[in-house]
Amino acid sequence: MQGHSFDIPLVQIKDEITENHEVKLYILRTDLNDPFISGNKLFKLKYNLEKAAKENKESILTFGGAFSNHIAATAAAGNKYGFKTIGIIRGEKTEELNPTLKFAQEQGMELYYVSRESYGLKDSPDFLSNLQFSNSQILQFTNSFIIPEGGSNELGIKGCKEITDHIKIPFDVVCCPCGTGTTFSGIILSLKKDQSALGFQVLKGKNYLKGEVESWLKKIDYSDNGNWEMNEDYHCGGYAKRSPELIGFISDFEKKHNIPLDFIYTGKMMYGIYDLIKKKYFKKGQTIVAIHTGGIQGNAGFNH
Ligand SMILES: *Cc1c(COP(=O)(O)O)cnc(C)c1O
Repeated sequence: MQGHSFDIPLVQIKDEITENHEVKLYILRTDLNDPFISGNKLFKLKYNLEKAAKENKESILTFGGAFSNHIAATAAAGNKYGFKTIGIIRGEKTEELNPTLKFAQEQGMELYYVSRESYGLKDSPDFLSNLQFSNSQILQFTNSFIIPEGGSNELGIKGCKEITDHIKIPFDVVCCPCGTGTTFSGIILSLKKDQSALGFQVLKGKNYLKGEVESWLKKIDYSDNGNWEMNEDYHCGGYAKRSPELIGFISDFEKKHNIPLDFIYTGKMMYGIYDLIKKKYFKKGQTIVAIHTGGIQGNAGFNH
């Protein structure tokens, strides 16, 4: 990853809502940090790739669903930084590959499909050696550098701790959409005393991600001073579900500000931020920075 230029634009968003409620809203466009390895996934991969290189691994193996941004990003990063990549994909192979998997394959990723039941066991120690593939394939799997689904490990968190380094202005609140909470955990680690973080859970479930984040923080011995919150109100029906309000919001936002949002993550976060501004959740004069985590490649899959 050395030599990768990280020049991430921070864009102010001004409209009648931010003006009327007297808040300053910015978006950190990490979606622009690489045309293919977009958003937070690059930060999550950074130290994983570094470790894989140190261990002289030739290939990287990871896991994901058929529309996974992490699969797309790992395939592109492997291609760019000289690793073979192997994707263990949840579910059946479809006759025509969807845009995400097609892209991954074009980047050189070898795709292997496992049933949903079997995929559910992927974090158990002998999962790879018990897969129904040839011995040489199994050997290739087990010799690879293994990154968990979503890039969710401590090295992923370490990379995400660097996201806020790219916010070159003083700010009060940083907002981030959350799937596993890995990115958000990294962001929390980077906060200064008077700053806070607000996560937007994109899937249903009471206290689900809050618990995940708490256990990450505990695991890395971070003394949590409670300057973060996990909002659970804007999942819009659940993971990868979309409501008419969300679709309308995203299309209005794109028209007005010329910034694309995805339906799974950043769209829900921005929808939530605007609703909270209107509900006076943020104090007057506060500077809010929303992290655009990318995910635009997934829109093609949605329309597929
Ligand atoms: C993967 C992803 C997330 C979620 O990140 P977590 O670390 O799993 O919480 C957020 N936004 C986008 C665009 C993603 O692709």
